Amino acid sequence: MIHLKNLDKQYKNGDQTLHVLNDIHLKIEENEFVAIMGPSGSGKSTLMNMIGCLDQPTSGEYLLHGTDVASQPEKELAKVRNAQIGFVFQQFHLLPKLSAMMNVELPLIYGGIKKKERKERARLALEKVGLEDRVNHLPNQLSGGQKQRVAIARALINEPSLILADEPTGALDSKSGTQIMELFTQLHHEGATLIMVTHEQEVADYARRIVTVRDGEIIKDRGHENVVPR
Ligand code: ADP
Ligand code: ADP
Repeated sequence: MIHLKNLDKQYKNGDQTLHVLNDIHLKIEENEFVAIMGPSGSGKSTLMNMIGCLDQPTSGEYLLHGTDVASQPEKELAKVRNAQIGFVFQQFHLLPKLSAMMNVELPLIYGGIKKKERKERARLALEKVGLEDRVNHLPNQLSGGQKQRVAIARALINEPSLILADEPTGALDSKSGTQIMELFTQLHHEGATLIMVTHEQEVADYARRIVTVRDGEIIKDRGHENVVPR
């Protein structure tokens, strides 16, 4: 499903070149649950940005469902992101003045879906994450764990083939963090493909596979091919 080949990412700063990702080779199959670990500054976010089509590599190939997306223009990448990828962030990134339901509906508004269908799908997504009794709450009326569940419902609303989460438990207490990881585990068992960045070993241990990055290179890939049968 995901195939990165010889992927490099460099940043130019005056006459200096920073090699942030160096000859990355990575294959991720459908229905894998992968954690990406590594020290701060090792290139994890940059790698996630590549996989999420938020940024383009300096060189190398990125095949997503067999299509080379590495060289596509931003307009095409935006389409790929919208149709295929759900994003979950450490700080939730919810719009504060919109209800839980409206936040979840947003990707459907961008997709031109009619109101009745939007409401119905948003309600189902919120039900799925256990928030059916919080649909009209504003983000500041929700706990951190509940906000993250709203964000996950939003990530799921377009039925993406891939869910990317950058430190999804980083802003949560350990109990809420555990609930979020149990939700990801449930999504994984239902067939989702999940890739998450985390600093925390106990969070990474929910994943079937742990990829370790250091200085822009993959130095360890544990649990590869250990995919749960559907
Ligand atoms: P991590 O997520 O592992 O902390 P990052 O991918 O954020 O690592 O960053 C890796 C390195 O790349 C860091 O040295 C960071 O400062 C640098 N970097 C990231 N994005 C940019 C950018 N847009 N321009 C210049 N340097 C960047
Ligand atoms: P986090 O680690 O919480 O994801 P960072 O502070 O590493 O956040 O990076 C936030 C954003 O800033 C990232 O999208 C990254 O690409 C960008 N960035 C990181 N380091 C640099 C840098 N040295 N120069 C320019 N942009 C950077």
